[in-house]
Amino acid sequence: MTDRYAVFGNPIAHSKSPEIHARFAAQTGQDIQYERLLAPLDGFAASVRAFMHGGGKGANVTVPFKLEAYDLAGELTDRARAAGAVNTLSFENGAIRGDNTDGVGLVSDIVANAKVAIGGRRVLLLGAGGAARGVILPLLEQRPGQLVVANRTAARAQELAAQFDGRLQACAFEDLQGVFDLVVNATSASLSGDVPPLAPGLFGPQTLAYDMMYGKEPTAFMRFAALHGAHVRDGLGMLVEQAAEAFCIWRGVRPATAAVYADLRSQLQQP
Ligand code: NDP
Repeated sequence: MTDRYAVFGNPIAHSKSPEIHARFAAQTGQDIQYERLLAPLDGFAASVRAFMHGGGKGANVTVPFKLEAYDLAGELTDRARAAGAVNTLSFENGAIRGDNTDGVGLVSDIVANAKVAIGGRRVLLLGAGGAARGVILPLLEQRPGQLVVANRTAARAQELAAQFDGRLQACAFEDLQGVFDLVVNATSASLSGDVPPLAPGLFGPQTLAYDMMYGKEPTAFMRFAALHGAHVRDGLGMLVEQAAEAFCIWRGVRPATAAVYADLRSQLQQP
């Protein structure tokens, strides 16, 4: 019997997850069906439970429900607990297990795909919202030489540093100094075409500037970083890698990602 999965969000029409998981399933010979489900803003938990009781095996969760998914899960992985948010649910005998694959998706895209090491390097994370928090533990697991979190509201960055027992440093954008090897933009500034107020000297020829957002054109952050000598990369690879990790959790088999990434990239480029 075909196993059912879904992605829950609001809005959801834009989600590329069904296409990505259909490609993974075809490639690995797994018999699954994966659909988009629009949950009402006040009805996320009921929608997920209805899907589960109807035979669903698992689900992805996107904006704005990742915090509600955290509350809904009866069991959480360490990385979901550290992220304070859940993007992957697995259902087994009526129990709901929550995981978060966003951070491992980011790290895989940087280390395996872009071939940029994080261990021992100076890393800057911009933002202190859900996306930033979700990637901190996987970044720390790579043992960077230094991890600095900077946010427009510096107090939120300091709260994050405290939650991670001081394993990272927090500051305001204007207090950042020196060149970083990796700068990850986890702010939502790119959504409005803005760039956080960063000194050009934070970027150099050895810097990878990574924007979690993706689109047809390079984001304003990527253009700014490239202008100041950095290599740049957007978040499309993170999207594909977080999906691969979720697929692996559900199906026990890891799909190859390169061809799926290349196809999504060429679709984005089409007029
Ligand atoms: P949140 O709303 O939780 O947080 C937004 C963050 O951006 C805050 O730190 C906020 O600062 C900061 N910010 C907003 N506007 C500006 C600005 N103009 N200048 C500087 N800082 C700003 O959002 P999320 O953390 O959930 O998402 C952030 C981004 O990550 C989104 O663009 C999302 O699309 C992307 N993302 C990509 C994924 C992928 O797979 N590629 C996965 C998950 C997220 P303050 O605290 O001061 O308000």
